[in-house]
Order: sequence, then C-alpha cells, then structure tokens
Amino acid sequence: MAVIGSDQRPALSLNGVSKSFEGIEAVVDVNMEIATGESRALIGPNGAGKSTLFNLITGEIPRDKGRILVRGWDVTHQPVRRRIELGVGRTYQTSNLFMDMTVRENLFLSVWKRGRPPAGPLATLFRAWTGYARQFTQVMEVAEQVGLNNKLEVPVSELSHGEHRQLELGLTLGHKPAMLLLDEPMAGLSANERAFMTNLIMGLRGWITILIIEHDIDIAFRVADKVSVLHQGRIIAEGTPSEVRANRLVQEIYTLSQKGNGRGHA
Ligand code: ADP
Ligand code: MG
Repeated sequence: MAVIGSDQRPALSLNGVSKSFEGIEAVVDVNMEIATGESRALIGPNGAGKSTLFNLITGEIPRDKGRILVRGWDVTHQPVRRRIELGVGRTYQTSNLFMDMTVRENLFLSVWKRGRPPAGPLATLFRAWTGYARQFTQVMEVAEQVGLNNKLEVPVSELSHGEHRQLELGLTLGHKPAMLLLDEPMAGLSANERAFMTNLIMGLRGWITILIIEHDIDIAFRVADKVSVLHQGRIIAEGTPSEVRANRLVQEIYTLSQKGNGRGHA
C-alpha cells in the first residue's frame, strides 16, 4: 500500500479560520498545518470548538473568516462534495450503515461509488470486469484494515456496537480519502472495543493523514505525532505529545475542566 496523497503540499492548512454562532466565538483565528501522512490529535475541554472546526474543514458549515486549503487547493468556498473529492474523509454515525445487508455488501457499495463504466461495448465489459475485481480486492483490504475480514458475510444488524463503528470507519476508507477526520471515535465504546479501535487507528498511522478528536488524552497522545490544544475556540498549544503534556497552560486547563465536569479526562 502506498502512502495516499503523498506530495510536498500540506494535507491541510487553516489560515486565520474563525466561526461565531450568534455572538458565541466557537472558533477563533485558528492556524494549523498538517503534513501529509501526519497523525494529529485535536484535544480540548467540552465546548472548545473541536467539532465546529471539523465542520468548517468538511464544509458542513461556512467559515466567517480565514482560508482552508486541502492539499494546496483553496476550498474555502467549495461545497462538501468537492472537499470529499479532494480527499477529505470523515466518519458518520450508524445511520449510514445498511443494516439488512452484509458487511461485504456495505463495503462494496462504499468502494463501488468510484467506478464508472467507459463507453464502447468491449471496453465496457473489460472495464466493468477489472473494475469489479479491483473493487473486490479493495473490499478485502478495507475489511482487513478495520478488523472485519472474518465478518464479511454477517448482516450488519448482527454486529456489535464496536463493530458498527469499525464498519463506519471502513465505509469512509472505501472512498480512499487522503485525510481522515475522526471525531471521538471511541465514544460509547467498551474498554475492549476502545483498545481494539485504538489499535486500528495505530495501524492506519503513516498510511493516511489523520486528524482525530479524542476525549481520552492518553489515547490521543498515543496515536498522534503532534497534538493541538483548543480552548475557547483558540489553539493554545501545539507540539509533540511530550511537549504538550509538559505545557503548564494545558495542565491548568485540564485540571480546571476535570474539576468542572467531574470527568477523569476532558
Ligand atoms: P467541542 O466539539 O470542542 O466540544 P463544539 O465545536 O461542539 O465544541 O462547540 C463549540 C461552541 O460552539 C459551543 O459553545 C457550542 O455550544 C457552540 N456551537 C456549536 N455548534 C453550534 C451551532 N450549530 N449553533 C450554535 N452554537 C453552536
Ligand atoms: Mg465535539
């Protein structure tokens, strides 16, 4: 497997990106550059603006100010569809799964979307066949990447919650994104499922550019090359996991937010 989208341009650049909701500054003047192949964690307390930043990157909500570049292309004013074409992939919730179909069928549909039969009778047949074979191989590859290669013939309705999340990841990978946006992929998973999902993400590291929002900072620090800390819409720290862990401001914010919401992590 080759590194997808490997070139000199950053996978993602954000220049002065801001977004307010009725006076609430959700994202304020965010600058961020993610290199191709990098794994970046985005952490910060609840309400810091992390999910909003994802929505700005995918184009689901328009930004107020700033520029957004995907692999060097200015997508600031481009719709979601165009950003997906350029390689932005994000996981969606369970509603995206076809429950009465098998894992194989779901994955096949996800990879099939890329195929388009050419004109001319023989060419059509030939390409349809090679296209089919290629998509079939890709289904196997993706199934293995998300740990579902032993469940290919199982109806999705019979999978566990954790397996549903794995399949959602698989559907996104089926589109061959250059960059994967994961918004709290461990949310609602059991300890075992979390460990499994962490390993899956570790396995994708380096093959695909990853931007992951993760509540559990120990997991975030494990899967990321670099960490960006968002607080009240602003990036307040950025660096390697050990740099960010040692950052006084980050320690203060996390101690405060733990007191505030009673969680073991924030
Ligand atoms: P995080 O993902 O870091 O927990 P969010 O990005 O969800 O934070 O939210 C950041 C802030 O923006 C919060 O104050 C939240 O209430 C507000 N916000 C997010 N989305 C909307 C929206 N669609 N309309 C109004 N306010 C929103
Ligand atoms: Mg969020």
